[in-house]
Amino acid sequence: MSKYIFITGGVVSSVGKGITVASIGTILKSRQITVSVQKLDPYLNVDPGTMSPYQHGEVFVTQDGAETDLDLGNYERFIDVNLTAESNVTSGQIYSAVIARERRGDFLGGTIQVVPHVTNEIKERFKRLAQKSQAEVVIIEVGGTVGDIEGQPFLEAIRQMRNAVGRDNVLYIHVTLLPYLTSTQELKTKPTQHSVNELRRIGIQPDVIICRSDYPISEGIRDKISQFCDVDKQAVIPLPTVSTIYEVPLLLEEEGLGQLIVDKLSLKSHQADLSQWQELVRCLKEPREPVNIALVGKYVELKDAYFSVREALYHAALYHNREINLIWVHSEELENNGSEALLRSAQGIIVPGGFGLRGVEGMIKAASYARNNEIPYLGLCLGMHVMVIEFARYALDSTKPNSTEFDPSTPYPVIYLLPEQRGVENKGGTMRLGNYPCQLVDGSQAANAYRDSLVYERHRHRFEFNNQFRNLLEEAGMVYSGLSPDGRLVEVCELANHPWMVSCQFHPEFGSRPGRPHPLFRNFIGVSKEILREGAQPSLPLSS
Ligand code: GLN
Repeated sequence: MSKYIFITGGVVSSVGKGITVASIGTILKSRQITVSVQKLDPYLNVDPGTMSPYQHGEVFVTQDGAETDLDLGNYERFIDVNLTAESNVTSGQIYSAVIARERRGDFLGGTIQVVPHVTNEIKERFKRLAQKSQAEVVIIEVGGTVGDIEGQPFLEAIRQMRNAVGRDNVLYIHVTLLPYLTSTQELKTKPTQHSVNELRRIGIQPDVIICRSDYPISEGIRDKISQFCDVDKQAVIPLPTVSTIYEVPLLLEEEGLGQLIVDKLSLKSHQADLSQWQELVRCLKEPREPVNIALVGKYVELKDAYFSVREALYHAALYHNREINLIWVHSEELENNGSEALLRSAQGIIVPGGFGLRGVEGMIKAASYARNNEIPYLGLCLGMHVMVIEFARYALDSTKPNSTEFDPSTPYPVIYLLPEQRGVENKGGTMRLGNYPCQLVDGSQAANAYRDSLVYERHRHRFEFNNQFRNLLEEAGMVYSGLSPDGRLVEVCELANHPWMVSCQFHPEFGSRPGRPHPLFRNFIGVSKEILREGAQPSLPLSS
């Protein structure tokens, strides 16, 4: 039977609870304990798929095609597991399921209530993941902070779990923030005390408190929290801000959290082996030569909108012993300003995914700049549409080619709606989602990167390459280097007369791992690092 770790947040959100959860997974996995993870999102949307990236950041797609919270990306990268739809539960899903059962008549005669009907459905989801994953430990993160109205049924459900599966099989960890007062130069514990009180009010006594802080945490502060919150002193774990998220597992291990969890849950465990992580962090901290990569998107004000893309770039750079100097380019700004002004120093250009017309012409300008100046280009989903539109405009010598997403009446619809998408009215969960096979063409840049001929990659789109234009663009120099096994869908395309201009219909960024960069990102950085741009030229030897 699985044991459960429930993680709640206190004081404020955005203190890195997701990274902490992922890191706890890492330190358990380093002891050969099998883990799975689940994120509970209290909002009423069924999934984040219909939310704006400004609201929610990136939508992470699992292999089985669930549109999920970006924390799942961190879990996958840190624990190196491929999660499934069961790993993200929202209030919207829970209420939909309960109401569907009510309509079916499952509760005939009964009044449907938060306790027990909603809480039972939530507990059912915990058990379903435990059963499906067969993990020794299931780590469950409650999104938001204690005290949020929407979060209450989740907190009640995790409280009930202690009785349902037995006290020794459940551990509660609370992640809080210790704010720093500049005037008195001290860290304050009062907000933590209050949030622990709030937890206790609903019947949850935390076993461990992890204290996030921008400043070192003294022994005195630990004593105080231990005393006021009734938690063992060694279970008050300081977590100061670090320069790289990949250091968090090492910090938690150093503070003894791994052993503490093993003891408290009586787990069978091996010696922790975090040598790979130590090596990763050592490399990350070493000064490395930068490679300038321009990320051209329309949500660049919110960096979280491109979380996995950024991480995948970091992984690839580390492989080449380089550091990414990320140049965030707002695609709308490219529309108004010349490409040269914004892209002059870019050694590589990446255009990630996105939806809707806004900013697309700017992205097309970026693709044109990459093609004309022989700058390496990696297009991801929308970035592929943009590359195809740009190339068609060049090949046809017309400004008209477009995707029907942006211009429904274009005479040259080089990108159009997938046939199976026609007539689909509902927006939620209806895209082409999750893993699909892709057959690579020998000798292409894509096949050279993968060193494989059949690969599986995660999708999230409604539009695709229009086969009517295949021959025309091929004659002009486009290579279709990845196709669906039946040959019907173009999944990867590249340009023959260019050092490296490769785009894919899928999202390779979701599959990248620290220490195991995604092949397309790896080769993209590999070529980019050799490109000389203004400001990146090697310095001339000084004459004596
Ligand atoms: N908007 C495009 C489509 O729906 C691209 C989607 C994406 O980039 N994920 O096909």
